[in-house]
Amino acid sequence: MSNTASPIVEGPALARALPSTTVPQFIREAIRRRPDALAMIDAPTGRTITCAALDQQIGRAAAGLAAQGFRPGDTLLICSPNSPEWVVVALAAMAAGGSVSGANPGYTVAELAQQLRDSKARFAFTVPPLLDTVRRAAEQTGCEHFIVAGVAEAGDALPLAGLLTSNGPEPLASADPDTLALLPFSSGTTGVPKGVMLTHRAIVANVCQIVQGSEWPQGMVSLAFLPMFHAMGFVLTTLSGLAAGGTLVTLPRFEPEAFLCAIASQRVTHVIAVPPVMQFLAGHPLVSTFDLSSLQLVGSGGAPMGAALEDRVCARLKCPTVQGYGMTEVGAVLTLVDTRGALRPGSVGQVVPGTQARVVDPATGRDLPRGEAGELWFRGPQLFAGYLGNPQSTAATLTADGWIRTGDIGRIDADGFVFITDRLKELIKVNGESVAPAELEALLMTHPAIADAAVIGRPDEYTGELPVAWVVPRSELDAEVLKAWFAERVASHKRLADVVAVDTIPRNPAGKPLRRVLRARDAERMESV
Ligand code: AMP
Repeated sequence: MSNTASPIVEGPALARALPSTTVPQFIREAIRRRPDALAMIDAPTGRTITCAALDQQIGRAAAGLAAQGFRPGDTLLICSPNSPEWVVVALAAMAAGGSVSGANPGYTVAELAQQLRDSKARFAFTVPPLLDTVRRAAEQTGCEHFIVAGVAEAGDALPLAGLLTSNGPEPLASADPDTLALLPFSSGTTGVPKGVMLTHRAIVANVCQIVQGSEWPQGMVSLAFLPMFHAMGFVLTTLSGLAAGGTLVTLPRFEPEAFLCAIASQRVTHVIAVPPVMQFLAGHPLVSTFDLSSLQLVGSGGAPMGAALEDRVCARLKCPTVQGYGMTEVGAVLTLVDTRGALRPGSVGQVVPGTQARVVDPATGRDLPRGEAGELWFRGPQLFAGYLGNPQSTAATLTADGWIRTGDIGRIDADGFVFITDRLKELIKVNGESVAPAELEALLMTHPAIADAAVIGRPDEYTGELPVAWVVPRSELDAEVLKAWFAERVASHKRLADVVAVDTIPRNPAGKPLRRVLRARDAERMESV
C-alpha cells in the first residue's frame, strides 16, 4: 500500500536478504544451477556457450589474467563490441579481484586515452580491428597488457585463447563485496565524464532488485544488443538476464536487419531497447518482414519515451511494452514495470524493491507533495560509492544521508508510478548514449577560431537529441569545416549536428552557460527555419 501522505515512496520489501558476495560469485552460483542450459548465443556466428562452459571459461580466464600479473585492485579496460567474450573477460577480471571499465568501441584514440588514464587501467581487452586504436591510446598511459579476442597470434598482445587454456589455479580473489567491481564513465549531473565507482555489493543488489521486480521467466531468451560498456547493457540485460536463468543472444551493435534476424532466428522472448529502437520497431517497413511472434516483452529505457510510441510498438508486435528508468550511478535501474501488476503507458514504472524515492523542489530542497513534479532523489543499496578521485562531484550528487540527486525532473502518482517530465542536468542523450556538453565545449575551446562555446541538445525525432554548438567566433568560421574538424576528434554519437554563431553566450554569475535560455532560442530558431 502506498502512503501518499509521506514524502518518501518505498519500493516493495526485498524478498530475501541481499547476498554478501561478489558479482562473479553471484553469477557463477546462478549458472551452476543449470550447467547444460545455454548461457549465450553469439548472433553473428551462431556459436553457443553452455552455463557450464561459461563458468569454466570465467575460471580459466581469471587464472590466466592472474598469471599475466593482473592483481587485486587492478582495472581491465574493455574496448570491444558486445560478444560472449566481453562477458567472460569482465567476470574473470572481477573474479581475479580487479575491476572493469567498459569503453565505447567507437572512441577515438584521444577519448580512449582519457579513459585509460582516468581509470589507471594496466590491462586492456579488445578485438583485432580496434587493437591499433587501443595501442595508440595506451602509449600515452600506463596500460601495458593487451588481450585480444578471436586471433591465435597477436604480436606482443595476448590472444584470449591463450588465457582460456590456462590451467593455473584460480586466484583466491579478495571476496570483499565492498571493493570496486565496475568503473563505467558518466558525467552525472554536470561536467566531464567521471569514473563511477560501483562495488560488487551495489551491483549484486541491483541485479537482485531487477530480478525480483520484473517477471522475467526462467528460460527467457533476451537480446543483448545494448552496449555492454553501458549500465543498461551489462548490469540490466547481461548480468540480470543470466541471474534470472535466461539465455543471452549477443549482438555486436544495433543494425536493423541483424537485429530483426536475431530475434526471429533465435526465438528471442525479451528485448530491452532504447527509444530510437522503439521508433524503428513502431515504424520501419522491414519489421513486418520478420517473424517476431516469439517476443513476450519489449522494454525501453535510457531516454524519454512517450506513451504513444509505447502503444504503437505494443500494437504492432502484439506484446506488452514497458519502460524502466535508471542511471549509471545506481548500477542500472531505479524504477521498472512489473508486468504482473498494472501497466501505465508513459510511466517508467515503480520504484524497485529495497529502494526509496522522493521528489524534491530543486530551488528550496524541500519535499514536494505526491503528484507534483520536482527533482527525483533515490536511496538504496545499489547506489555508487562516489566518482573516482572527485570528492566534490560525489558530494554534489550524494547527500550525507545517502540519497542520490538524479538531476531528473519527475512526479510520482498516487499508485507509485513514476513519470519523468524533464531534465535538470546538462546531459544530452543521443540514441540512448550519453553526451556530456562540458566535454564537447572543452574540445571546441581548443579550436583557434573559437572564443566561447556552449553545447546543448536539440530534440530530434530519430535520435532523441542531437548536440548543437553555440559558438562565439574569434575569426571567420565555416560551420561545415568546424563540424568536420570536430567529427575527426570524437565518437560518432558526439558529432555536432549544427553550429550556431553568436556574439555572446548567456551565462549565469558563476560563468555556467544558461542552457535553458539557449535551448529556448534554439527551438525558436528551428521554428523560423
Ligand atoms: P546513463 O547514466 O547514461 O544511464 O543516463 C542516465 C540518464 O538517462 C537518467 O538520469 C535520465 O536523464 C535518462 N534516462 C534514463 N532512463 C530514462 C527514461 N526511461 N526516461 C527518461 N529519461 C531516462
